[in-house]
Amino acid sequence: MTTTATELDAALEEARARYVAANPASAAAYEQAGAVFPGGTTRSTVCYPPFPLTIRSGSGARITDVDGHEYVDLLGEFTAGLYGHDHPVVRAAIEQALDAGWGYGAPGLGETRLAEVLCRRFPSLERVRFTNSGTEANLLALATATTFTGRASVLVFAGGYHGSVLSFGPDGRPLAIDVPHRWVVGTYNDVEGTDELITQHADDLAAILVEPMLGAGGCVPARPAFLELLRRRASEVGALLILDEVMTSRMSGGGQQQRLGLRPDLTTLGKYVGGGLSSGAFGGRADVLDLYDGGGVPHSGTFNNNVFSMAAGFAGLTEIFPPPVADELFARGEALRARLNGIGAGLQWTGLGSLMTVHFQRTAIANAADIDPAPKARELFHLEMLHRGIYLARRGLVALSLSIGADECDRFVEAVGEFVRRFDDVVS
Ligand code: PMP
Repeated sequence: MTTTATELDAALEEARARYVAANPASAAAYEQAGAVFPGGTTRSTVCYPPFPLTIRSGSGARITDVDGHEYVDLLGEFTAGLYGHDHPVVRAAIEQALDAGWGYGAPGLGETRLAEVLCRRFPSLERVRFTNSGTEANLLALATATTFTGRASVLVFAGGYHGSVLSFGPDGRPLAIDVPHRWVVGTYNDVEGTDELITQHADDLAAILVEPMLGAGGCVPARPAFLELLRRRASEVGALLILDEVMTSRMSGGGQQQRLGLRPDLTTLGKYVGGGLSSGAFGGRADVLDLYDGGGVPHSGTFNNNVFSMAAGFAGLTEIFPPPVADELFARGEALRARLNGIGAGLQWTGLGSLMTVHFQRTAIANAADIDPAPKARELFHLEMLHRGIYLARRGLVALSLSIGADECDRFVEAVGEFVRRFDDVVS
């Protein structure tokens, strides 16, 4: 059978029509939202054409939309939903916090115990500070680096995503709304080119900000040699290496840095670190974080120590996600990705541990420019998975939560197998 654009268009048209017919309540919710939210949403990531599913409830590994369809949730709130939707331990921690009231405008006990766990688990975190999100953690880490070094340039990589105002397209261009740092944009995993860039900007480089795996950029893991280069050259030129582990901190008890034996100067965290509630953190070398000691440089934030995130985060890390569980989850993800890649045909799954993204190409992917965006194939795949009761991101991201077990993995592999049997000629 020959592949033609017409076949893909026809398959998409059919899948879209079926989606629209099956989801009138989501369509109505989207229309209502459009009257108050530009683009119909307050969170661009969760919006996709023709309209996103609006979710009514979630429990364990399942979510239910406003039209009453139940899905296996393989998106796991873009990694923040590590504990599922209603873990009893998280719930108990929130309830206990509720009993003591909230909003003290003062230090509480919760933030210190959560910080202690993080510093114990991530040896590079000698000191830490909480924020409200991963975006904010990276903004603060960058401000820390420019203040500490007295320099202005920041090396980032094409396809890197460090938050809503810290996002770099596959072509390396910052978004129009990005914060105005003096950006130097390199190519991910390009050891030689990056080495040269660092030499060119050596005198003004405040920080190198990098994800150990391009997350939103398509789950592209860093080559160890690339990160080793960044570590070595940052020290040589007096820049701070900031490792954005907002997504990858789940890869072991001490994050991907533990797996790699890498010690960054600063690390940023977020997502599940607050138990699934709003949170973020940045931390690292004591001599750098001492900027904030004694009020020399202020770092404020009304909700930095909000009692619910602090309580849920502590309970999650200590009672649900101790290091051996992190290792098990990593292994479960690796096994699932191997099975998915074993299906073969035109699909390729890249990632690390419990995080993976589908690509519609067989050619190797080392950086963002290597990725075929294949928007129509991604849309068809997404709609077909939804039709089979599997919920994942439109861009093809899967983030396993701890609620996803063998049955859910089997069901997913089966659904992907069906997709490949039916559409491989169409999408490849
Ligand atoms: N860094 C990375 C690597 C991320 O994946 C994200 C979120 N997807 C962020 C930072 C931003 O975190 P938040 O959405 O909590 O602001």
